[in-house]
Amino acid sequence: MTVKAAQLHQNDEAASRRPKLYSYRRIVVKIGSALLVDRTSGLKRDWLESLGDDIAALCANGVEVMIVSSGAIALGRTVLGLPKGSLRLEESQAAAAAGQIELAKAYAEVLSHHKLRAGQILLTLSDTEERRRYLNARATIGTLLRLKAVPVINENDTVATTEIRYGDNDRLAARVATMMSADLLILLSDIDGLYTAPPHQNPDGKFLPVVEAITPDIEAMAGAAASEYSRGGMKTKLDAGKIANAAGTAMIIASGTRLNPLAAIDKGERSTLFKASPTPVNAWKTWISGNLEPSGRLVIDEGALVALKSGKSLLAAGVREVAGQFMRGDTVAVFGPDKREAARGLIAYDASDAVKIAGRKTNEIAEILGYDARSAMIHRDDLVVRARRDTTAKE
Ligand code: GLU
Repeated sequence: MTVKAAQLHQNDEAASRRPKLYSYRRIVVKIGSALLVDRTSGLKRDWLESLGDDIAALCANGVEVMIVSSGAIALGRTVLGLPKGSLRLEESQAAAAAGQIELAKAYAEVLSHHKLRAGQILLTLSDTEERRRYLNARATIGTLLRLKAVPVINENDTVATTEIRYGDNDRLAARVATMMSADLLILLSDIDGLYTAPPHQNPDGKFLPVVEAITPDIEAMAGAAASEYSRGGMKTKLDAGKIANAAGTAMIIASGTRLNPLAAIDKGERSTLFKASPTPVNAWKTWISGNLEPSGRLVIDEGALVALKSGKSLLAAGVREVAGQFMRGDTVAVFGPDKREAARGLIAYDASDAVKIAGRKTNEIAEILGYDARSAMIHRDDLVVRARRDTTAKE
C-alpha cells in the first residue's frame, strides 16, 4: 500500500469508528440559510420536515438538541418581495423581522408533528459577553431543555448593527455550544467537510473525515469562499471549531443538501469530525478565578465545603454568612469554616436575597423570596474551587 492509500484507509477506518449521534448528550445543530430557503419558492418545507424527523429521533434517544438557525433574512426577502442584490442595513433588518416570525412558526409546526415544543431565543453579542446576560441566557436555554423543548436560536438581527453583532451563525452556534456545555456542534450547510484544499479551486484536494486538532496547517486548507446566502465560508467554520474544541465540544461539518441530514451522518455520508481537545481549557473558569475583584464574601459550613470539593454546586443551605454588596452574576469569594478562601464563583442571587436564603433548604426558597428562584447559590459551572496549596498557603 502506498503512503497515501494507507492514510486514506486509516481515514475510512477512523470515520467508521466515530460515535453515533445518539451517544452524545447535548448537541447544537446549526442550519445554514441556503438549506432552508429557496430564493423563489421560499421555505423548503420538505427538507425542514426531514430535519424535524431526525431531531425527534435524537430527542427520543435522550439527546438534548438545540437548533441555531439562519434563514431569517433570506426568508424575509422572499416574504417582503425585496429585490435581489445587496440590501441596506435597515432593509436586511426589516427582512429579518419578517423572516424570523415565519422561521419560528415553521420550526414550531414541524416539531409539533413529533409532540415537541420549540422555544425561540434571539441573542445579541452582549447576551453572551456580559456576565448577567450570559447567565440569564444560559438559564433560559437550560430550562427549555429541562422542559423537553427544543431551543431555536438565531442572532437578533433586527437590532444588531455591525459593531455589536456576531455576524455569522457559525460562531454564534459555537458560543451557544460552549455556553451550554454541549458535547457536539454540527454545522450543516452546503459544504460537506474539510478538504486539504478548497475543492472548487483544486480538484486534487483530499477529503478529511477526522481532524485531531485545528492547527495552523489545517487552517491553511480553508479557502475564503462562501455560498450565496451563507455568510460563513470554511474559515468561519474553523473559527467556530476552535472555540468549540478548546472548550471540550467536538464539531462535525456536514452537508445538509439532502433530506434527513442528521441521519445521513450516522449512515456514513461524508462529513468531517473535529475532535474536542482532550484537555479542554475552561476559559470561563480561568476568568472567574483570576481576573475579578470579588464583590462579596460567603462563609460556608464543612458539609458544603466537602460538596464543593467534590465538584457540586453551592446550595443556600450550606451558607452561614453573607457579606458585601453584590448583584446576581457578580463574583464572590467563598470561605470555609476555617475562614480560608476555598472558592470563587458567580453568585446567582443579589445580596439582599442571598442574606434571606442563607442556611435555608432549597424547597423553602421560593416561599421566602416570593418567586421561583434557581436553587443553587453558585452553580458548579460558575465555581472555581481553589487548589489545596492555595488554601494552606499561610501555613
Ligand atoms: N442571522 C442571519 C439570518 O438568520 C444569518 C447569519 C448567517 O447565516 O451566518 O438570516
